[in-house]
Amino acid sequence: MRIGFGYDVHRFSESRELWLGGILIPHTKGLLGHSDADVLIHAICDALLGAAALGDIGMHFPDTDPEYKGIDSKVLLKETAKKIASAGYSIQNIDSTLVLQVPKISPYIGLMRKTLSEHLAIDLSQVSVKATTTERLGFEGREEGVSAYAVVLLEYKQDT
Ligand code: MG
Repeated sequence: MRIGFGYDVHRFSESRELWLGGILIPHTKGLLGHSDADVLIHAICDALLGAAALGDIGMHFPDTDPEYKGIDSKVLLKETAKKIASAGYSIQNIDSTLVLQVPKISPYIGLMRKTLSEHLAIDLSQVSVKATTTERLGFEGREEGVSAYAVVLLEYKQDT
């Protein structure tokens, strides 16, 4: 068994769409980034890569590479899952937390879990997404950005 941890932050910006957990969320602003800036998926990718000691998302998908400009982070998630599987690991479970003041995330949690589990080809019960505010403290509380934390457990598949 291998544990992995991921963390990411993106800044809010006007005239951007808000993509979180692979879905588009109606809001007055979105997150700034080279890709679609899906902070939750980025934290999950980093946790997956970390668990397998395969580096980080910036190493595999550099933000200087035009190929990844504006890319749907679900593509990066799928690519990451492929790398994990190629290294001989299967995903046992993922737990994650989004940290943001606005918008309210609870109505979207179910669809995020479904979307993430489908792109990782694992069961819905293996993916947890939670959300919290910071009681208006810090950059998340000032509505300047969103952070996300993720932990994953991988199992090394025995040779068959
Ligand atoms: Mg990121």
